[in-house]
Amino acid sequence: MRIEDVTRLELGTFVRPAEETGTGSARVETVLGYVARTPAGLLLFDTGLGEADHDTEAWYRPRRVRIEDALHTVGLAIDDVDLVVNCHLHFDHIGGNPSLGGRPIYCQRVELDTAHTTDYTVPQLVDFAGARYELLDGEAQIASGVHIIPTPGHVDGHQSVVFECEDGSIVLAGQSHDTASAWSADALAARAPALGHEQPLPPASPWMSRLLEFDPKRVVFAHDAAVWIP
Ligand SMILES: [Zn+2]
Repeated sequence: MRIEDVTRLELGTFVRPAEETGTGSARVETVLGYVARTPAGLLLFDTGLGEADHDTEAWYRPRRVRIEDALHTVGLAIDDVDLVVNCHLHFDHIGGNPSLGGRPIYCQRVELDTAHTTDYTVPQLVDFAGARYELLDGEAQIASGVHIIPTPGHVDGHQSVVFECEDGSIVLAGQSHDTASAWSADALAARAPALGHEQPLPPASPWMSRLLEFDPKRVVFAHDAAVWIP
């Protein structure tokens, strides 16, 4: 596979209230998924905004694109999907999972445990007929060149996917960072000592060095259409 074979899916938008943005203003955010034909089969990374309870709906005001419709826009159908990876199990990343029953859903064990606590996500999007979790305890290579790497931070069980393509690696970073610029700052923080900077330095995410070992040519995100390029 090649990097350009990883296709982005637009799965909707929501309005993040000012209380959560840190900027004092509300922000309209995109919800993106990714699909690629991999040595593991047709892999779908994140499935969109689920229907939440009344309070959550009122708080985020989501506009959804059904996963069926998003796949259709790129010439695919639900039946084509062989496996699902969710970066984490918040309601805005797993909305289409119930339509994908029977397929393996790759998830960190700690994330599923957390999702079974109250007030974390929408329970019906986690435990539905046909739900089949492949639970991971850390990093895993699920097929040749297809890696799942824990990237905790936003939540403890957050994970990212790396595809080692013929023309270089691409990281599906999900919500490891809200924006490509936040990733960029973190990646530079991880490289700062090697660049000759002396302490004190900002701390980098502990897993950032692991992802940079893949020498990614692209990093893409769940809530930012911007793409990081080294
Ligand atoms: Zn999210």
